[in-house]
Amino acid sequence: MCNLDQSDFYNWCSCAGHCTLSLPTDGCFWHGCPRCYRRPGSNRAFWDAKLARNRARDRAVARDLRRRGWRVLRLWEHALAGPAAARAVERVKRAVGGAGRKTTD
Ligand SMILES: [Zn+2]
Repeated sequence: MCNLDQSDFYNWCSCAGHCTLSLPTDGCFWHGCPRCYRRPGSNRAFWDAKLARNRARDRAVARDLRRRGWRVLRLWEHALAGPAAARAVERVKRAVGGAGRKTTD
């Protein structure tokens, strides 16, 4: 039984040893979604640096998880709303049911 802890940044699965799938859900603004992100009109240097740090941390966390044998399936915030949500659910189902299946980030 998988029990995700939503309060944890990594969305670590609390059943370590049984589940090895991490499902980080990235906010479209905070993580720079190529589809949704709109660069703020003011304080651009601050926001550019903030976004770069967030994305660098995303890559480092995913790399660390993969090194530990975890699979990482990143989902954008926009993929969890509206008609796209059904596709996101299917991606998660495939990832959960398909040990060794490649995932994307
Ligand atoms: Zn988005």
